[in-house]
Amino acid sequence: MRYLILSDLHANLPALEAVLDDAAGVGYDAVLVLGDLVGYGADPAPVLARTLELDPVGIVRGNHDKVCAGLEPSSTFNDVARISIEWTASTLSPADLKKLAELPIGPRQIPGGVEIAHGAPFDEDYYVFDTQDAARALESASARICLIGHTHVPGIFATGAVPDGTLDGDIVRLPPTGAVLANVGSVGQPRDGDPRAAYGVLDVARQTLTLRRVAYDIGRAQRRIVEEGLPEWLAIRLGRGE
Ligand code: ZN
Repeated sequence: MRYLILSDLHANLPALEAVLDDAAGVGYDAVLVLGDLVGYGADPAPVLARTLELDPVGIVRGNHDKVCAGLEPSSTFNDVARISIEWTASTLSPADLKKLAELPIGPRQIPGGVEIAHGAPFDEDYYVFDTQDAARALESASARICLIGHTHVPGIFATGAVPDGTLDGDIVRLPPTGAVLANVGSVGQPRDGDPRAAYGVLDVARQTLTLRRVAYDIGRAQRRIVEEGLPEWLAIRLGRGE
């Protein structure tokens, strides 16, 4: 089973289209979505539709999905995030808002010894940035391979010994024992200094994780943000990958 892993899509349609084109070449059997389908970007309705059309076998909500659906107040967000999520909520149809409200709360168990969460298994809103955070998250994980998003920064943390030949191009061989926590990065708003869209493919039989970066039409996403009158910073940061 090869899982296509999509996280933090953030209403960026050009990025999602480029990722799906690239992923068709890499190949996958089923789709996992780790939350934050909307927020920040200017095309929430088409991104929500394209994502749900993929018929994910596993999906969890993100903090932006939750606030957009009215399940949590936007006062917990910074100004830019709040303005964009309020715009998103005002532009989506009641039917789309209902779909967001019904996205499952993580963590969720996936066949093949996999668990998915937006932030961490013990708290969907927790940010895993360093090895200390990762150790906490791994302790609370109930599957060998735990896939997370939320930080928009790719990273792999493992409790077992890392085997020789771990890196083969963009393919990471997972350690044969112990637990693994992996963040494949963000489709729609990368924050690791590389503006290309990020996604991953987990091959359960081979125990490999492919980390992909895909160039997309950033200018198109930026123009849409400006057209909709969203904060300019949201366009600028896409170009910088921050
Ligand atoms: Zn996010």
